[in-house]
Amino acid sequence: CGVFGVVGVTDAANFVALGLHALQHRGQEAGGIVSHDHELGFNSARRFGYVRDNFTKQSLMETLPGPISIGHVRYSTSGAKGQTAIRDVQPFFGEFSMGGAAIAHNGNITNADALRRELIERGSIFQSSSDSECIIHLMARSLQRNIPERMEDALRRVEGAFSVVAMTRTKLIGVRDPLGVRPLVLGRVGDGWALSSETCALDIIGAEFTREVEPGEMVVITAEGGVESHFPFRPQKSRFCIFEHVYFSRPDSIIGGRSVYETRRQIGVELAREAPVEADLVCPVPDSGTPAAIGFAHESGIPYGMGIIRNQYMGRTFIEPTEQIRNMGVRLKLNVNRALIEGKRVVLVDDSVVRGTTSRKIKEMILDAGAKEVHFRIASPPTSWPCFYGVDTPERDKLLAATMSEEEMRVHLGVDSLRFVTLDGLYRAAGEVSGRNPDAPQYCDACFSGEYPVAPADMIEKGFML
Ligand code: 5GP
Ligand code: SF4
Ligand code: MG
Repeated sequence: CGVFGVVGVTDAANFVALGLHALQHRGQEAGGIVSHDHELGFNSARRFGYVRDNFTKQSLMETLPGPISIGHVRYSTSGAKGQTAIRDVQPFFGEFSMGGAAIAHNGNITNADALRRELIERGSIFQSSSDSECIIHLMARSLQRNIPERMEDALRRVEGAFSVVAMTRTKLIGVRDPLGVRPLVLGRVGDGWALSSETCALDIIGAEFTREVEPGEMVVITAEGGVESHFPFRPQKSRFCIFEHVYFSRPDSIIGGRSVYETRRQIGVELAREAPVEADLVCPVPDSGTPAAIGFAHESGIPYGMGIIRNQYMGRTFIEPTEQIRNMGVRLKLNVNRALIEGKRVVLVDDSVVRGTTSRKIKEMILDAGAKEVHFRIASPPTSWPCFYGVDTPERDKLLAATMSEEEMRVHLGVDSLRFVTLDGLYRAAGEVSGRNPDAPQYCDACFSGEYPVAPADMIEKGFML
C-alpha cells in the first residue's frame, strides 16, 4: 500500500490526490482521502479503482476541504484479491474524547487476529476486516490524554510492519515500526509538510525531500510548530524490506540515500558477473525487469533490446470480459517484438519468479517468435517463503521455489538456463559492499531466506512452520 499526508497548505486533499497518484504502483485496488476543515470538520471519500478515475473530479474534491489531509492506496495482502469491500478501504477514522483522528497504514500487523479477538471480547465494534483497524480500537482504549500518546500506546501492542500516516484536526503524524520494514519519508511543501511512502510522490507536488522518518520514530507535525520527534519503542537494529529495492518501490525514488533505479541496475551487473551466458540479446520483462536488464547488458557487453513490448493501458484492475480473453493472460499485457527476437539467443531479465506463470508464458511467446535459445536471469533470489509484512505473496506451496530446486524450475519453465542473483549479490547491489551479514542481516529478506525478523504470531497459531 501507499500512504501520503500533507499539512499547512490550502486544499491539502488536492496535494494528497497527486501524491497518491504517484504512489499508485503500491496499490491499485482502491484509494481514500480524509481531510479536516475548521468549519466543516472531518470529511472522507473512499473509492475503488485508480486515483486518477476518482480523485480528479471537482465535485468530489470540493467535499474534501481544509489545510490538512491524509490518504491511502490499497493493495490487499489478506484475503482473496479483488474481494476488497469498501469498508476495508482506508483511511480509518475514530472519534475520541479529545477529537477525531484518521489513520492510513502500510504494512501488515502480524498479531492482528489475536488483538482483534481480545478487543472484541472487551467491547470493540469492528467496522472492517482489515488488520489496520486494530490501531483505532487500541487508541480508543488508551488512557493517554492526547492522540499522539494514544497512538504510541496502541502501536506498542502491535507487532509486524507498519508505516502509518495519521491526522488529528491540526496535527499530521508519521510513524515507522522499530525495524523500519516499510518506507516513509518527510518533505517540505511551501510552508507546510508532507509525509509519503516514497520520494517520487514528493516530486509530483513540488515538495523538497527533507529526510526519512527513522525506524521506530514518530513525527508529530503542526502547520506552525514544525516537526517534533519521538522514539516510543524499544530500539532495534533496522530491517528494511529488501524487496522494496527489487520490485515494490518506484525506480525514481530514493531509499536509504540510494536511487532505487541504481540498485536495480546494479543487480543486473551482479547477475552478469555471477551467471554469465553467451547470447545475442538482453531483453527486460517490462517494466519491472528493465533496470536490471540494462545493468546486465552493460556488464556483459551483450546488446540490449526491447524484445517484449508492454501495453501501457493494461492495468491490474482490467475487467476481463470472457473466459477466452482471460485465458490469453499475459498476452493482454505483453507482446513479443518478433523482428528483434527471431533467430537470436535471448537473455530475459525479470525481477522475480513467484508462481512462475509469467515466466512460462513469456518463454512460450519468445520461442514462438523464433528465438534460438532462452535464458532467464532473475534479479532476486528464489522466492521460497511468503511475506507477512505487507507484500502479497501466495501460500508457501504455490511458490515455485518452495517446492522445486533451481534445476527443476528450469525444466518446469522449459528454458535453456535459469539463474537467480545470490542474496550476497543482492545486498552488494543495495550498497552493502561486503554482502549480507549472516549474524545480523542488514535488511529483511525473509521471502528469500526464511529468516523472519518478527515471528508471524497469527500465522504460527494457524500452523505455519518456520
Ligand atoms: P509469477 O508469474 O512468477 O507468479 O510472478 C512474477 C511476476 O510478478 C514478476 O514479473 C513480477 O514483476 C511480478 N510481481 C512480483 N511481486 C509482485 C507483487 O507483490 N505483486 C504483483 N502484482 N506482482 C508482483
Ligand atoms: Fe520485504 Fe520479503 Fe521481508 Fe516481505 S518478507 S518485508 S517482501 S523482504
Ligand atoms: Mg513483472
